[in-house]
Amino acid sequence: MPFRYDPGTLRAKEVEIEVSHCGICHSDLHLISNDWGISQYPFIPGHEVIGKVNALGVGVRSLQVGQRVGLGWQSNSCGECEWCSRGMENLCPTAESTCVHRHGGYADRVRANARFVVPIPETLKSENAAPLLCGGITVYNPMRMHGVNPSSRVGVIGIGGLGHIAIQFARVFGAEVTAFSTSPAKEEEARELGAHHFVNTRETRSLKDLAGSFDFLLSTANADQDWGVYLQALRPTGTLCFVGVPPAPVTLPAFPLISGLKTVAGSPIGSPNQIREMLKVAARHGVKAQTELFPMAKVNDAIEKVKKFKVRYRAVLAN
Ligand code: NAP
Ligand code: ZN
Repeated sequence: MPFRYDPGTLRAKEVEIEVSHCGICHSDLHLISNDWGISQYPFIPGHEVIGKVNALGVGVRSLQVGQRVGLGWQSNSCGECEWCSRGMENLCPTAESTCVHRHGGYADRVRANARFVVPIPETLKSENAAPLLCGGITVYNPMRMHGVNPSSRVGVIGIGGLGHIAIQFARVFGAEVTAFSTSPAKEEEARELGAHHFVNTRETRSLKDLAGSFDFLLSTANADQDWGVYLQALRPTGTLCFVGVPPAPVTLPAFPLISGLKTVAGSPIGSPNQIREMLKVAARHGVKAQTELFPMAKVNDAIEKVKKFKVRYRAVLAN
């Protein structure tokens, strides 16, 4: 349903963006159905925004009207706490999300604090770059933080919006990459995206055969799995990192964790600085989201397709 609202006067330090593109992240679908109990209605989703700066609030000196910019999951933070002052604004306890308790990017315009609005490198096309603002940073950051390197064996679990970008970044880091997917039809494309190996996770045997094989497993799946099997698939000192949000609590046997000195981790998006770095890396190494474009007015068709996991690999709305 189209929804109109009056955002009032633009506040100091804020930027208004005229949205040209907005990716559909699965988090938007979780918010639409209030899976996380934090949604407020009427609700405008959207947090993978690219557009042009339309207006600048008082005190914004870092951007210019007309400049092409991007905005991801986070729209503001306190700017003063330990985490903000350490450049880890995504960990700020009072972080504000672009479409939680404020109206997001499936819209003509969206607003955010200027610190969270980043310029887009010229060589990136808006359609392919919009999904990097949330999906891209969410998979880039944990690989960077956990030191994925040319000797690493990396597995990406779930080859959707996040997963297909994760395969590409893992290759940029020089890793040997395995795609874990419930969709055998994705094998050829996963290999084209850079995966060296493909595992059909509906065949449980193939997973069990991989015990002791991986240094870093990144789960982007938003469904419950036998996580113990993935823990077994790690080599000693390996890490199983969650970015996808499975509905049930994650249960794991402690023994293989202990004996293999293994780590279970999670990771939330990235700071504005890390987003800038990720965009530069994407531009330099040709990382881009494979997208299906929908006019903004067809948003409901796009959402239905995402819900059925039919999009290859990110739906993007265009104004
Ligand atoms: P998506 O495009 O819908 O992809 C999810 C993928 O999960 C699917 O393509 C599918 O891959 C796999 N999957 C679906 N059902 C499954 C099942 N029953 N068993 C195993 N795998 C299944 O979603 P997305 O936009 O990439 O988002 C993925 C998750 O990340 C969501 O939970 C989202 O909320 C979360 N997220 C977290 C952050 C963060 O900061 N941590 C940021 C953005 C998104 P295959 O077909 O290959 O199996
Ligand atoms: Zn997202």
